[in-house]
Amino acid sequence: MSESKEFVECDTCGASLGARYWSFNRLVERVDYDRQGETPDDCATITVLRDDVLGQFCDDGCAKLTAWSDLAGRGLRLIECGAGPIETCAKCGGPVDLTEPHVFYQLMDQTETRRPWLNTIQPHDTEALAYVCSRCDGDLAADEMNVPETEDELLPVGGAVKPPMPVSAPTDKK
Ligand SMILES: [Zn+2]
Ligand SMILES: [Zn+2]
Repeated sequence: MSESKEFVECDTCGASLGARYWSFNRLVERVDYDRQGETPDDCATITVLRDDVLGQFCDDGCAKLTAWSDLAGRGLRLIECGAGPIETCAKCGGPVDLTEPHVFYQLMDQTETRRPWLNTIQPHDTEALAYVCSRCDGDLAADEMNVPETEDELLPVGGAVKPPMPVSAPTDKK
């Protein structure tokens, strides 16, 4: 069993993770309500600009334990999360307009299938934890800068042009 380095350990209890595990993600996303439907959920098209996995866990109990303390460490409260278009910032309590880029924390129950040619993730369930407005998340502006917004920026630019460096963004790389 210890041969495989494919799967990592639970960040809370250290158990080896199987193909099915929970992850704690910080996403930068934008929602367009451009589809026909009864509820905001039905109408939403979500564009994920960035997706950072903050932790991986063996079950939802371990996921919540670490995710909640992480959010508390960021000064965020757990509040009811809906499908927008206006939600409440978990830090300042102000409105978060989901049609603008914003930060979103969620837990996801998923099965990861690893094959030599393709890794696929099949989500079973997600739990929304917090929305954070752009005023309260200092990394958001830098995250947006790192995302090519237009097709022009996706083209190779000859190696000479670099995106502007974020000046004050703290790095949270481990
Ligand atoms: Zn665990
Ligand atoms: Zn805020």
